[in-house]
Amino acid sequence: MNQQNMKIDCPVCSGEKCMTAISRVEKIPYFGEIMESVLICSRCGYRSTDIICLEQKEPSRYTIEVGDKTLNARVVKSQSATIRIPELGLKVEPGPRSTGYISNIEGVVERFETAVKTAINLFEEDESKEKASEILEMLREVRGGKRNVTVIIEDPFGQSFVGHPSAVREKLSDEEIKSLKTGFLVFESDKIDEED
Ligand SMILES: [Zn+2]
Repeated sequence: MNQQNMKIDCPVCSGEKCMTAISRVEKIPYFGEIMESVLICSRCGYRSTDIICLEQKEPSRYTIEVGDKTLNARVVKSQSATIRIPELGLKVEPGPRSTGYISNIEGVVERFETAVKTAINLFEEDESKEKASEILEMLREVRGGKRNVTVIIEDPFGQSFVGHPSAVREKLSDEEIKSLKTGFLVFESDKIDEED
């Protein structure tokens, strides 16, 4: 592992040399070299992470059946990935606040739990709160290896990966790529033509 640390000015709070930029290159078996970069500001607390795959990859979908034997499967999730758990109706799409990370399936489920907990606090209706609490409980069962679900990771830039013999990789079709959010501004020129 090759790691570099640098002190830079923080673009968020404009503090001088208070931000630590850490970048490290790691080799992921069966996937390739990736660069993980982390920015942490000691002054304002800003933090962001990103993952860049250093090799050209094709747009891909990984599907894995999650159970006690696959919770430790390696996961590389880039900023451009969409993650879904269809059985629980959960989906995280790329957006301005989405980050890239290296984790495992258990870590992915844990991040879903955190997101659902946040949602519970934001919901005002009891019915929505109750539904979200049920989903939270199911996610805890998944993480405890007591409930099986499917995790699907789709990445139009092919920068994401699930490392497990039972994970299925498929190439995304052009139609599927178009239907995915990339987190970037996309001009849908096709759509404009149709409306003419
Ligand atoms: Zn700062």
